[in-house]
Amino acid sequence: MQIALTNACNARCRFCGFSRISPDHWVMADAARLRGGLPLLAQAGVRYLVFTGGEPLLHPHLLEILHAAKTLGFRIMLCTNGSLLTQELVTALAQAGVTHLIISIDAASARVHESHRGFPGLCRSLQTLLPTMADQGLRPLASVTISRLWSDFDALGDFLTSLGFRAVTFSYPTMAGHWPSGEAAVAPSITFTAAELAAVLQKLQSWRRRAPLAVLNPDLGLEELQRQLQGQAVRFPCLAGWKYFYLDWHLNVCCCHIRRQPLGTVEEFADLPRRRHACHACLTDCYRDASVQQYPAVAASEAWQAAHKGQWRAAIKHLLRRENRLALTAAWQSRHWFSGGP
Ligand code: SF4
Ligand code: SF4
Repeated sequence: MQIALTNACNARCRFCGFSRISPDHWVMADAARLRGGLPLLAQAGVRYLVFTGGEPLLHPHLLEILHAAKTLGFRIMLCTNGSLLTQELVTALAQAGVTHLIISIDAASARVHESHRGFPGLCRSLQTLLPTMADQGLRPLASVTISRLWSDFDALGDFLTSLGFRAVTFSYPTMAGHWPSGEAAVAPSITFTAAELAAVLQKLQSWRRRAPLAVLNPDLGLEELQRQLQGQAVRFPCLAGWKYFYLDWHLNVCCCHIRRQPLGTVEEFADLPRRRHACHACLTDCYRDASVQQYPAVAASEAWQAAHKGQWRAAIKHLLRRENRLALTAAWQSRHWFSGGP
């Protein structure tokens, strides 16, 4: 489950709607309610939490929420723009159970990144902090949005390694007409035509073989999106709303952060209907790549449930799906998210 702790953000990235929300309209998730909801999520089978925002480090009760999640045994990741990180906070996050710190980077140079974010000196600070994170058991990952702020993969790889990153995950941008809610993030820097985007994804696929750091987006996920962009059938249905959920700062559960109609509250999570939507309206990596990576595990669980009901034919069918074999490689390429890694 992704938990968006707040809609507040201190950055001014031009391609993101959060940067345009004025402090008068900032909302922080109610910490007491969220702490009360975490055991309900654990009982209902949620295992992984990704804390995000806005900027989650702005939440005044972040550490106590993380400690509560750690006590319940969740695997915890946190996305941040990195501007508020200090040595003390890095230590506190590690002690509070965060294993992966996902730090967003927008460009292939400090100058462009810092001016887009509005954080002069951010890169120097990251260069100081990143080397010490591993000692504390924290894995820093760069999260780079494919955008028109950069175009040279080799320059980007050199920049990320100079900051101290050893792994990167890419976020896919939007395309005109590909957002179901009409609230399209139509910033020109992240709006691509299908042909342009397919070309960038292909470049990314070939770059990963010579990249100086690990690229965590699986090849199969990249191929799947290229197929979709070329109008071919989707083979790996999105897991959002079925195995993967989004909790917003009002503590409403949604399918994903794009289909934002609340399904219910965090307190109601166990009783909410879980639906497999035949949706492929967006290309959001956190859901779409996850849907590829987790495909074999989901098929195994479906086979187990069918076998449990004595439906042996159905169970075998789930296990023999061709997509399982394909997705096993993707799961291997994504092992960093679940265990050790670069
Ligand atoms: S740091 Fe992230 S949440 Fe904040 S404005 Fe930039 S992209 Fe949006
Ligand atoms: S494809 Fe998945 S993540 Fe994207 S809008 Fe549809 S349900 Fe949400």
